[in-house]
Amino acid sequence: MYEAALKLKKSKCNILLTGTILQNNVSELWSICNICQKGQDWIDFKEFEDYYTNPITQSMKSTASRDDIERGNERKDELYRFLSGFHIRRDKNELPESLQMKGKDDIIVMCELSTVQKALMRECLAFPDVQVMIGQAEPETIFLEENSEENQINPLAVIWRLNHANDKRCGMCIGGTTCKCIFYPTLSKLLKIVSHPASLQVDRSMLDDKKKAKQMAFLQAFSPETVAMLPGGLYLSERFSDLTNITVSGKMEALANMLEHFYNTNCKTLIFSGILRVLDCIGAYIKSKGRNFARIDGHVSVEQRQSIVNEFQTKSQTLLPFMLMSTEVGGLGFNLTAASKVIIFDVNWNPTKDQQSQDRAYRIGQKEKVSVYRLVAKGIRTYYFTHKSAHLYLYRYY
Ligand SMILES: [Zn+2]
Repeated sequence: MYEAALKLKKSKCNILLTGTILQNNVSELWSICNICQKGQDWIDFKEFEDYYTNPITQSMKSTASRDDIERGNERKDELYRFLSGFHIRRDKNELPESLQMKGKDDIIVMCELSTVQKALMRECLAFPDVQVMIGQAEPETIFLEENSEENQINPLAVIWRLNHANDKRCGMCIGGTTCKCIFYPTLSKLLKIVSHPASLQVDRSMLDDKKKAKQMAFLQAFSPETVAMLPGGLYLSERFSDLTNITVSGKMEALANMLEHFYNTNCKTLIFSGILRVLDCIGAYIKSKGRNFARIDGHVSVEQRQSIVNEFQTKSQTLLPFMLMSTEVGGLGFNLTAASKVIIFDVNWNPTKDQQSQDRAYRIGQKEKVSVYRLVAKGIRTYYFTHKSAHLYLYRYY
């Protein structure tokens, strides 16, 4: 699209109408400015990176020095001043009165973990690699022979081993002091435990044998007593009554109460989760109550998505009260203003994702006040995830 825009015929001025101008990095701004400034005196990409992008990015790192932060802020201010010369921003607060929305509530729902979740959490936090991640142990706990090519790896460091073929250290672990390479894998496992333990179980029907073996190896690292507490043990149970059993997940119990209440008070509800298996369990539960739902995730084709959205927007609340969505597709601009309740089942480590989820309902055209409910596991400091970006050390179990 950028290349097509550059080929536009020479004109006296170029006008761009954009959504979010800055998605992931400062350099994206350059492309937009470059189209607007075409033919005028304007710095090239390399200069832009050196002068704006790099100092701003450096100032946001946890390792930034005082000088870095000062320089970064100066360049940020300069960039804002420069942009204000040809950039007009309008957001929801500036709508004319006839389009003004009724506001939004942001509610944190603290959910007590189930007995099996507590057992899984306690054991998982004691794994040597997770201990390293939460700052309770040194990397030597994983690498029993330090600095040796042929490392002897702690057999209990299961997450590290699942992410390093043949126990070979990756570039991030060699010489590293924190093993950042397993940051996201660890975060993902902990999130699965607090969301719904069924998301850890092995699905017999899964075709990807490698993935299956990895899931199996992770769950086998727990004690047999804890695994036996899950309906189906290592395997995802095929019994419908097990899939809909809400007592294995504290969040499911809270969700069940909320869905009942919203259904009875005539509110359409959006439910977001980043874990597809969790959406399966929620869907099964809704079905077990004899109610209907629509679902959009990455497996639904682009053509189908719009007709599902239209159906949700137009059908009556009794016929179609719930929409399940994966966080991944939640950022794609769907208009779901028929819903006034938004439930974020697992808070994403990236706060922008959850912001995009709630904007499906909280957008122009919304006639009701929107309530956003974030389900947070009690006893785990995921609460801070709603305010800051990810810090794994907040995951200590109390
Ligand atoms: Zn590594």
